[in-house]
Amino acid sequence: MVNRERLAETFKFLAEIDSISKEEGMLAGKIREILVIMGAETSVDNAGERIGGDTGNLIAKFKGNAKVPPLLLNAHMDTVEPGRGVTAVLKNGTFTSDGTTILGADDKSAIAILLETLYVLKEKELTHGPLEVVFSVCEEIGLLGAKHLDFSMVTAAYGFAVDATDTEGIVTRAPSANHLEFEIHGKDAHAGAAPEKGINAIALAAKAIAGLELGRIDEETTCNIGIIEGGIATNIVPNLVKVKGEARSHNDEKLNKVTDGIVSSFKRVIAEYKGKGSSDDLPRVDIRIEKDFSRTDIPADHPVVALATQAAENLGRRMKTKISGGGADANVFFEKGIFTGVLGTGMRDMHTVRESVNLDDMARTVELLIEIIRLHSQAGAG
Ligand SMILES: [Zn+2]
Repeated sequence: MVNRERLAETFKFLAEIDSISKEEGMLAGKIREILVIMGAETSVDNAGERIGGDTGNLIAKFKGNAKVPPLLLNAHMDTVEPGRGVTAVLKNGTFTSDGTTILGADDKSAIAILLETLYVLKEKELTHGPLEVVFSVCEEIGLLGAKHLDFSMVTAAYGFAVDATDTEGIVTRAPSANHLEFEIHGKDAHAGAAPEKGINAIALAAKAIAGLELGRIDEETTCNIGIIEGGIATNIVPNLVKVKGEARSHNDEKLNKVTDGIVSSFKRVIAEYKGKGSSDDLPRVDIRIEKDFSRTDIPADHPVVALATQAAENLGRRMKTKISGGGADANVFFEKGIFTGVLGTGMRDMHTVRESVNLDDMARTVELLIEIIRLHSQAGAG
């Protein structure tokens, strides 16, 4: 049923349109044209204005002809750098870039898969329920598109995001994450003439970080300090250091514990310094903790898992539930009460110039989705 040439053409077409985060407008316009021709009711929400991008999220609805609850389908439109002027090269059944940019299979392989699925539904006049397809913006820069999605436009209670590698897996668990920022304020002074008048913010930050347990804390918890910025010149005692990090866990209690541990290490170092008789309000640490995304935890007996598992079985394939260490739009959907499993496209080495995706894998995911949609059209019927 899958038209491989069309799938390959669609992917190449999409991959070669620039769509760095906040600049997805051109791509969204092209996808919308295709969807309208297919008979979708399309709209673009106001997320673009709210996050400073040139388009919002694109939402397409297909009414279908089976009286079942709507199904959500999702892929993101934005790509990372270096992602301008991509040339998609198909060789021995695998797409890569020309080696100077990413390919953008993350997540355009998924967009091509969703469009091919919709082509087939229409072409073969297959019975299907209502479909709500969300093409989101700015997934790569903190799930901003999904976070600002106009959820009044989505009525589905469950569905599938297509934004992973494994074509025989469905991600049902993903961690919560906290974003952490610390600004240590010390006091500047001439490092040679009067160092005793200064408070070295770099030294304080170093002390606070050195006392931390970083990396993998346990099987479901990680944390990292990823950015440190500060200092102006070697002859100035630095008065400001900014430290940024994150913590993730599948268990919210553990997430809070790790976050608290990092926060207290910074506070302790400041307090110890002050204990030695610091005169004014310095040194000081300003702390900002933000919830980056909350966890996903779809029960094994949820219809989303059952649909994917049964569909794979009908096609003679396997389907495993998987745990992800990262955040995706699906986390945001889950937080909003939409149980969203994440399926794979076969894409590999994402966010590198070696990124690739195999056409066979993409075709397999189209077949899987068609079977999922077929099963879904029968599920609530009658
Ligand atoms: Zn992605």
